[in-house]
Amino acid sequence: MPPPKKRNSLCCVYHCLCYQRKIKSPIEDLKIIHLSTLSMNDFSNQRIDLHSHTNCSDGALTPQELINRASNMQIDVLAITDHDTVAALDIAERYIVEQNVPIQLIRGIEISTAWHGFEIHVVGLNIDPNTLALRTLIDSQQQTREQRAIQMGEKLTKCGFDGIYQQAKKLASKGTITRAHFAKALLQQGHVNNLQAAFDKYIGKGQRAFVRANWCSIEQAVDTIHQAGGSAVLAHPIRYDLSGKWLRRLIVNFAAAGGDALEVVLPQMHNEQRKLMLNYCTEYSLYASLGSDFHYPSRWSDLGKNLQLPEQATPVWQLWQ
Ligand code: AMP
Ligand code: MN
Ligand code: MN
Ligand code: MN
Repeated sequence: MPPPKKRNSLCCVYHCLCYQRKIKSPIEDLKIIHLSTLSMNDFSNQRIDLHSHTNCSDGALTPQELINRASNMQIDVLAITDHDTVAALDIAERYIVEQNVPIQLIRGIEISTAWHGFEIHVVGLNIDPNTLALRTLIDSQQQTREQRAIQMGEKLTKCGFDGIYQQAKKLASKGTITRAHFAKALLQQGHVNNLQAAFDKYIGKGQRAFVRANWCSIEQAVDTIHQAGGSAVLAHPIRYDLSGKWLRRLIVNFAAAGGDALEVVLPQMHNEQRKLMLNYCTEYSLYASLGSDFHYPSRWSDLGKNLQLPEQATPVWQLWQ
């Protein structure tokens, strides 16, 4: 079992006071409804999914639709973790309260980071979305996304595909623009036969329209999540296509940066991979998280599907109890 980590106690006291409304948080005016984030009791025997997306980034469902789907799937605890945005959280929280949905929402985010030429995703769980440091990081990540999108559009024009940037912007609407929107635009305009082909031929790493984005570092993401009172989770470690040596380097770096947990359980994971992740948790004193990374309903993955932490794991939610 990993020893409980010492957290910045001043930061925790600050956030407790903010939650209890004894002092004003920097962006108090946003009138977020505060659910009982600090009174998470017993998560045993609950259906838990700590990684999901809405159409505030590249998910297909609105926050309300996602909550309805989670409720239909009998999820008890759901984290919304959109790419570099917290826009869905307020909407989802209001909906849960108004409709009296029996779901505990964990406020989350998935932050893109740059590490040795790889794009590594760090999930923040149980964050206070109003924290100034987090708002500042989100603004800068959104600017990075916009610049990258413009450059990707230019490269795609050079490939002979006009108007893809405009179409991707339209698809993203007011939400975070992602490569998933570019893939969809390329598909809609008949330049590829499926979304995967858009990544394989044009916008995936090393392809003709790929643009290396100037994301924040792992350290910045972890530090900002901690300033927001949350737990930092290394998202889907097995999906980065890293050799064993590089995966270990990544986990060592993440732990050294103060990261709290690894996503040990994802859908469609081999037993061997799960065991490997568990061993890393033990070796580097990291907690374990689990999530579907739900974007849209499909045959292969859904909210809460095939998600169960092994008994040996120390769940990340112990940090919140
Ligand atoms: P971005 O954060 O803008 O680089 O976009 C990354 C998003 O695109 C991921 O969160 C996935 O939803 C999607 N994505 C990334 N790689 C692929 C891929 N090879 N095939 C399909 N979707 C992908
Ligand atoms: Mn995505
Ligand atoms: Mn991700
Ligand atoms: Mn994700």
